[in-house]
Amino acid sequence: TKPLLQITGLTTELGDPAQPARVVDGLTLDIRSGETFALLGESGCGKSMTALSLMRLLPPSGRITAGSVQLGGTELLSLTEAEMRQVRGGQMAMIFQEPQTSLNPVLTVGTQIGEAVRLHQGDARQRLGAERALELLRAVGIPDPEQRLNEYPHQLSGGMKQRVMIAMALAGNPRLLIADEPTTALDVTIQAQVLRLLKAVQSENGLAVLLITHDLGVVAETAERLAVMYAGQIVETAPVAEFFVQPLHPYSRHLLESLPEASKRHGRLAVIAGRVPSLDQVFQGCRFVDRCPAAIARCRLEVPEWRMLDEGRGVRCHLAESVGVEVPDRPAVPV
Ligand code: SF4
Ligand code: MG
Repeated sequence: TKPLLQITGLTTELGDPAQPARVVDGLTLDIRSGETFALLGESGCGKSMTALSLMRLLPPSGRITAGSVQLGGTELLSLTEAEMRQVRGGQMAMIFQEPQTSLNPVLTVGTQIGEAVRLHQGDARQRLGAERALELLRAVGIPDPEQRLNEYPHQLSGGMKQRVMIAMALAGNPRLLIADEPTTALDVTIQAQVLRLLKAVQSENGLAVLLITHDLGVVAETAERLAVMYAGQIVETAPVAEFFVQPLHPYSRHLLESLPEASKRHGRLAVIAGRVPSLDQVFQGCRFVDRCPAAIARCRLEVPEWRMLDEGRGVRCHLAESVGVEVPDRPAVPV
């Protein structure tokens, strides 16, 4: 079957066009209806810029310079802004890390969800807004929804605010939900509830979720497939189950070692010195070379090509050409 979302060669630049930072560089991936696809990486890797590119909500200094984004066969990059507004909050919706920054503090919950519903359905169905708002609050598991409708965001806990955000995102019956670190600001119990809620909504209506996260625990719990992003590029893609058994890219291995259980098991904390390189340069070799415990001389001289291996696994690393190549232990510090 055709994927719901097909991204091909998406490239996004920020800042001075003479020396732009290429924050998303040739990103290619597809997402199917009903699946959760995780985009994983530390902050500054280009995950959020990818999401904002898909929504066409880039900051003023940003622009998409190449690529294609097809949602259900429609090329989003050639839509007018007015057409794109219809897609946002309609077929495609997004929820953010900080619900408090996206909710209007002076409007009640009911008014805001009602607005989202009306935006989608048009004036003719205005009176349905309140009813539907109530239905959505029930769907996202908010207790006493009738009362909540009349409350303001400051009266809600962080978890409840995130649920309200999800309710608003669902108001237009989207086919794709982009969730950018949706649980990062929440405590662990609430995190799990919000993730379960998304799963439940998904299994009911075939919603596809692009889950953006730096948290492998969250990925393990919710996603079927993933892509690991580093310095604006995808460095590995895999079915989640196989990824956990055998990550191929040294950066992926680092992320796995960063899991709290892993560091406990090994009695140490994995560390990788250094930071994501700045993206306003032309790279001569691998972008991960300064931090890679497995680097060889070739890695500084030659940009690693993207390679598909088998069964949906792909990797960008000179050493991962044959699966199972032993990568030397990374430096570690005792706990
Ligand atoms: Fe490390 Fe070289 Fe692979 Fe880059 S190409 S991740 S530097 S081994
Ligand atoms: Mg981010």
